[in-house]
Amino acid sequence: MNNEDLRKCLEYYRDLGVKEIFRPMGSAPPPLPPPPPLPPKAVVFSPDPVPRIELPKNLPGLAPDNDSLAQIQADIGDCKRCRLCEGRNKIVFGSGNPKAKLVFVGEGPGADEDASGLPFVGRAGQLLTQMIEGTASREGIQLKREDVFICNVVKCRPPENRAPQPDEMEICGQFLFRQLNVLQPKAICALGSTAAKAVLGTKEGVTKLRGNWQKWRDIPVMVTYHPSYLLRPYNQNAKREAWEDLKTALHFVYD
Ligand code: URA
Repeated sequence: MNNEDLRKCLEYYRDLGVKEIFRPMGSAPPPLPPPPPLPPKAVVFSPDPVPRIELPKNLPGLAPDNDSLAQIQADIGDCKRCRLCEGRNKIVFGSGNPKAKLVFVGEGPGADEDASGLPFVGRAGQLLTQMIEGTASREGIQLKREDVFICNVVKCRPPENRAPQPDEMEICGQFLFRQLNVLQPKAICALGSTAAKAVLGTKEGVTKLRGNWQKWRDIPVMVTYHPSYLLRPYNQNAKREAWEDLKTALHFVYD
């Protein structure tokens, strides 16, 4: 090793933090290992240009011009857009008066709804009917369930009645928004936290939102408890509050 090589070698060990190198007494200095080769220079990666995707012309908007409930139902078709199609029997589109001034939005079909294709026909549905008709009649308002429109955030039954997942709500939510847009009710009643989340895009719970008017686009929204929650025996207070919310909504729409 010549002096120049030795200098390079010592500089290399100094840079590694080696402060001292010992030479055994009376012997010739052992040959130092040659410094490792320098790492290759960083290669500047130049990606291929992003491939351009030609978009088809005349893509339909989310809500086509002259949208209608029939068009939405046709667009839903035999829907396979999310995993909920795997376990469903019937798609539950919604039912009621297409000219309804008040629209109720629930979470998603349960077993009875999945079998019949109609929203809110099980126990929770019977309670909802009682709430609508009973409260209206006590308040001197002539109103039957058939006069309102009832639908859900997701149109297919989630397995084991679990809550719909965010992607399922997002995919099916486009049809809910089209329904609300076509119906143009005077008010919307969101039943439970899933409906509130979907309609208002909020993470706030029902307890915080209920009792005060919120908005979907320009339409007032009253959030209240889901009838399934009210069916639980220990929810007397929530029941009273739900009746208050419904009274407020009914008077706002029908007075
Ligand atoms: N619960 C809902 O949220 N919707 C229904 O249609 C039935 C029960």
